[in-house]
Amino acid sequence: MPEGDTIYRLADRLRRALAGQAIIEVKSAVAEIREGHLLGSTVVDVGSRGKNLLIGFSNGLTLHSHLMMHGAWHLYARGERWRMPSFRLRLALSTETTEAVCFGAPIVRLLRTDRLDADPRLRALGPDLLSDGFDAEEALRRLSADPDRPIADALLDQHAVAGIGNVLKSEILFLAKLDPRTKVGAIEAAALRGVLDVAREVITRTVARGRGGRFVLPGRVTRVTSQSMLGRGGELWVYERRGERCLACATPIEMIRQADARSTYFCPACQRG
Ligand SMILES: [Zn+2]
Repeated sequence: MPEGDTIYRLADRLRRALAGQAIIEVKSAVAEIREGHLLGSTVVDVGSRGKNLLIGFSNGLTLHSHLMMHGAWHLYARGERWRMPSFRLRLALSTETTEAVCFGAPIVRLLRTDRLDADPRLRALGPDLLSDGFDAEEALRRLSADPDRPIADALLDQHAVAGIGNVLKSEILFLAKLDPRTKVGAIEAAALRGVLDVAREVITRTVARGRGGRFVLPGRVTRVTSQSMLGRGGELWVYERRGERCLACATPIEMIRQADARSTYFCPACQRG
C-alpha cells in the first residue's frame, strides 16, 4: 500500500500537471460521477491527507481518491496509450495537453469542497505527519487512547496519526530504538513524542529524496558501518532484511507478524526499550 509520502509526491506531480488547467474530457467508470460534474471546471489544487488524494475544482467540488492496495494514478500526454488495461479505469481527466487516469482505486468520489472537514471518512483521520500544522498533542492523545496496543500497530492506525505505512513503520521504530511489541501504555510520554518526531523527520526526508536511501538521523546512530555492509544499495535499516545483519550492531534482523498479519522487521538488540 502506498504510504503518506508516496501520495504526497503523487499530489505534487498531479498538481504540476493539472493545476490551473480546464478539464475538457472526462471518462468515468464510477456510477456516481458523470462527465457533467467536472467538464469545463478548472483544477484549483491537488493535495493529500495521509493516504487520501484530493483534487479540488473551480466548481466547488473535490475529487477524493484512496488507492488502497492496488490503485494507481497515471499521467499521460493526451492521446498516449495507457499502460494499464482499460477495464481497470475508474476515472480519467483530460486537459488540453495531459490525461490523468485513475486505475483500480476502491475509493473515487466527489465531495463538496466546503464540506470536506465534515466528511466522516476524512474527519476520522488523525493528524497528518506531512501537514505544516501537524498537531502532535492530538496525535499523542489518539495514539494513547488504546494503551494495550503494540506501538507498531498504533503507528499504522490512520485514525491515530495519518501517513505511516508498513515500510516506514519498521524504519521509524528502528530509529527510535523501540521494540515494536511494546504496548503504547508502557511508553513514557516523552518517548512517545520522540517516536512522532522521528516519524515526521523520516517521512519528510522520504518525500524530499524519494524512496530509497537510508534515513540517518543525527545522533541516533552511534556506529557507522562500512559501505560494504550496506547491501541492497544501502536502502533501508530493517525492512525486508530478515536474517541479514543489523547495520548498526550486526545482530540478525527478525520479522514478526502483528495485527492483520502485517510484517514488522526489527533488530532485537538495538530495539529493546
Ligand atoms: Zn542492531
